[in-house]
Amino acid sequence: MGSLLDIAKVRADFPLLDTKVYGKNLVYLDNGATTQKPLSVLSAVEEYYTEYNSNVHRGVHLLSQKATSAYEESRKKVAAYINAAHSYEVIFTKGTTDAINLVASSFGRKYLNAGDSILISAMEHHSNIVPWQMICEERGATLKVIPMDKNGVLQLDLLPSLLDDKVKLVSFTYVSNSLGTINPVKEIIRQAHEKNIPVMIDAAQAIQHIPVDVQALDVDFIAFSGHKIYAPMGIGVLYGKEKWLNDMPPYQGGGDMIKTVTFEKTIYNELPYKFEAGTPDVSGAIGLGAAIDYVNSIGLDAIQVVEHELLSYGLEKLAEIEGIQFIGNAAARSGVISFLLEGIHPYDLGELLDKQGIAIRTGHHCTEPVMDFFGIPGTCRASFAFYNTKEEIDLLVAGIKRAAAILI
Ligand code: PMP
Repeated sequence: MGSLLDIAKVRADFPLLDTKVYGKNLVYLDNGATTQKPLSVLSAVEEYYTEYNSNVHRGVHLLSQKATSAYEESRKKVAAYINAAHSYEVIFTKGTTDAINLVASSFGRKYLNAGDSILISAMEHHSNIVPWQMICEERGATLKVIPMDKNGVLQLDLLPSLLDDKVKLVSFTYVSNSLGTINPVKEIIRQAHEKNIPVMIDAAQAIQHIPVDVQALDVDFIAFSGHKIYAPMGIGVLYGKEKWLNDMPPYQGGGDMIKTVTFEKTIYNELPYKFEAGTPDVSGAIGLGAAIDYVNSIGLDAIQVVEHELLSYGLEKLAEIEGIQFIGNAAARSGVISFLLEGIHPYDLGELLDKQGIAIRTGHHCTEPVMDFFGIPGTCRASFAFYNTKEEIDLLVAGIKRAAAILI
């Protein structure tokens, strides 16, 4: 693609990209749902299980020490990747959903009272809606929403009036998984902080595409999933400012999160262990560390340039298809193109593309309120990673035309 990357070499790092689907070369354009894993991640996980599988923070024996230091090394890699001031501000979770539930439950129990509210946005994934609804219901609080316009852009002119003194936390997505909109995180954080309101960012669709510097953003919490940044499933991250994490009660009780336990009283462990009850996903954390090494070796700057080229090319080529309608037209966007084809149900198009070896996502993308806003049942979504090519986009466009010829 005449870009910064040696694309053949990059693709060779991802064995799954070589797969055939129904006898056709796989064209994997569902990276928003999950990314493929490079060999270095797969071998880091295999090495852990074949060479030093052991529980962490528990044993004096060599294997346990090795596992513990690899696990903690990964925490440091995550901290460096997001520029956290301290590695103990990085909590390993199961993923974005788990991290948001942690904050909703723990922060909510401590700070949310009857009559208070949580402010989210109109383009949230269900995992940044439902946990807040649950804690609001429990605490007698309400959920408020920053509206968006028809382009899928948040209506920031309404933000000052929404940020009233009842709002205890603002939680919103950095990048929309169904529209691709990049939200003005810095500006929203600035306005919230002016009123002393903390902010949580769902970085599930940002962390693999955009540099996320938690100190530069001055964000209070961020959540992301390993599997969307080339790491295994089952591992994720909650970053929280030390001040908040120290003040918040534990989310779950169990092993590792305690200092001492008697039947009368338990003294909780320090950060980050206070929020990591039970045996963690050690192999996942090690895989995440390897994934971050991999991303750093390619360079997020190069990744951004390549992915931006893919997005622009995709928008240009898809626009040539008769009857196509884009859902989401924000000027600042990343990663995904959502679209509909006149007269065709997204599911039918997705199925016919699948038969041609082209994997895209169809449906509501866990953002039902976004679909309701646009009055549609769902969209087709092509989502990109730096290992995708313009040739794959050409195949997508040809595939859609072929499918349309059958369906219309
Ligand atoms: N938020 C956004 C914006 C997402 O795209 C996703 C995954 N589709 C999630 C949250 C949930 O991530 P996970 O299922 O890995 O917890």
